[in-house]
Amino acid sequence: MTQIANDYNRILSKAWAEAPREGIHNVWRQDAVKALKALFKREFPNRRWPYEVKFTSGNRYTWVRYHVLSINCDRGWEHLVHDWSHWLNQMHGRKPHCEEHLRLERQCAQFVIGRGWVKTEAAPVPVQEKTDKVVEHYKRLLSNKAATEKRLFKHRSALDRAEKRLKTLDRDIRAYYKKYAERLA
Ligand SMILES: [Zn+2]
Repeated sequence: MTQIANDYNRILSKAWAEAPREGIHNVWRQDAVKALKALFKREFPNRRWPYEVKFTSGNRYTWVRYHVLSINCDRGWEHLVHDWSHWLNQMHGRKPHCEEHLRLERQCAQFVIGRGWVKTEAAPVPVQEKTDKVVEHYKRLLSNKAATEKRLFKHRSALDRAEKRLKTLDRDIRAYYKKYAERLA
């Protein structure tokens, strides 16, 4: 491990040691959003918040793509702040894990801890995930029905048009035949 990487881990471990230990992997979604917005504001006081916020999970990073910020609360505060400091640091046009990045990340950690966002009170289970399957299934049924009705309507109109056209053609054929009966006989 290089010197800077050594320092990096040591300095950040020290910073995070100030937070309640059981809170590190207990990220409240609402606090995560507040924290990332506040840290952004801290770095870029004159910029408006530009991102749409979404939540992600598993091993994914907290990162921005096409103006959508995906926040992963599952990996705990250290990862969340580390990932976000990468983004902020990159926005400053600096290299990852440079000294300024380290300083920035430590300040971010201290800021988050200072605001009391690392807390031991269990994070509420996101309501969405629990009801999602049922709600999503119901929504799917409804939209399926709507699509089917639309298709039926389309086919019905096509059928109506075809029937009308057929009548017109029959009439025309009869008239034409009548007119040229001798030649067509
Ligand atoms: Zn990194």
